Amino acid sequence: MKQIFSGTSSQLFSPLLQKEIVKLHLPTQNMNVISKLQPSPFGGNKTITSPISLTPYAGSVRCTARCKFCSECLDKTNSDHPQNSYNIISSKQFFSCLTKSLKKLRNNKVILCLSGLEPTSNQEWLIDCLRSVRAIEEGDLETKPEFFAKYLYSNCSGLAINGQFLDQPRQKEVELRNRLVKELIKYEPTDVYISRHHYDETVNQRIMQYHSNVSIKHQHTFEKTMIDLNQKLPMRLDAVLQKSGISNISRCEDYLNWAIGMGIENVFFRNLAYFNDDYVNKTNTSSYIANNRVNIDNLVSKCLGRHNWTPISQKVGYYYFCLKFNYKNKISATFEISDYGVLENKHNTNTIYKLILYPNGNLTSDWYPEKNVQVSLKNFQHLEV
Ligand code: SF4
Repeated sequence: MKQIFSGTSSQLFSPLLQKEIVKLHLPTQNMNVISKLQPSPFGGNKTITSPISLTPYAGSVRCTARCKFCSECLDKTNSDHPQNSYNIISSKQFFSCLTKSLKKLRNNKVILCLSGLEPTSNQEWLIDCLRSVRAIEEGDLETKPEFFAKYLYSNCSGLAINGQFLDQPRQKEVELRNRLVKELIKYEPTDVYISRHHYDETVNQRIMQYHSNVSIKHQHTFEKTMIDLNQKLPMRLDAVLQKSGISNISRCEDYLNWAIGMGIENVFFRNLAYFNDDYVNKTNTSSYIANNRVNIDNLVSKCLGRHNWTPISQKVGYYYFCLKFNYKNKISATFEISDYGVLENKHNTNTIYKLILYPNGNLTSDWYPEKNVQVSLKNFQHLEV
């Protein structure tokens, strides 16, 4: 095992702001230092990081929203449709591939990220997914990886307290939701990240464009749901900074005060990722991102000099950087900045930084179902674990 590389501050901010941040001498979690390299259990003379992030990609049904900046629409195929137009294998086959992948990673630390499209859109699928992970966790020590962290990324639609869809029988909807919440509690996630891009229902709906029958689009449903779930699970709020939404420090403060009112203790403000020219293909999504990116340098600089904002730590990842503040001593506010160009360059090396199990049964090391395939569906059938 050897260390990958080190570094203490982000190259993603302006040099001036980087200097300011370095002067703060903040405690740093540097994933590039923590991560070790070891031979990939999937062969091909590749190395793999440990911890390694693994996403069982939720893509069996369409997402309940249509966010204007959705990165799943940000591909190189000149399309505004999420990349879910591939063959979808049965849940049974998919979870068998997931189990095999996790067993193969038994000498690794795994960061399990439940994301993709919207994982709670298909609640039965997510319940099966959580059960498959638990079966591994409860299995023999020799056949399972160490779970470094377990996350769920969701827009909350399938967790809505009054059920997911307004036009379906209420009792059935609520029962299914409650079953899912029970499974999530057993999953013991490190964090549950809920995306909500504005504290005002109308502005949020303009950005997220939930389908008309989705109950979580309503403010009172969202707030009641968050208050309920926050008693049971480590709930976090995620807002993507954008000119048409949370765009300046006073809106950030309004968002944080709204979150405090629901008892939430952690908020993430993420910038719209930078990307290289390969991604810019004149789709509505790429244009929206380019036109709506907020100047995060200005925003973070203002926070650094502002009453009630105390910088407390930073985190460096392989394509992202996070700066964490305490706001009013009541809530943490983390700014995250990321670059898909850096991510793509890393994914094109001989090192595996990320694994995604796609609904077509391909385990890939990049965000494309047919690219950098480490194990194909056909090869999973013969994979010895
Ligand atoms: S909730 Fe997530 S997957 Fe769905 S449209 Fe928004 S960004 Fe895309």
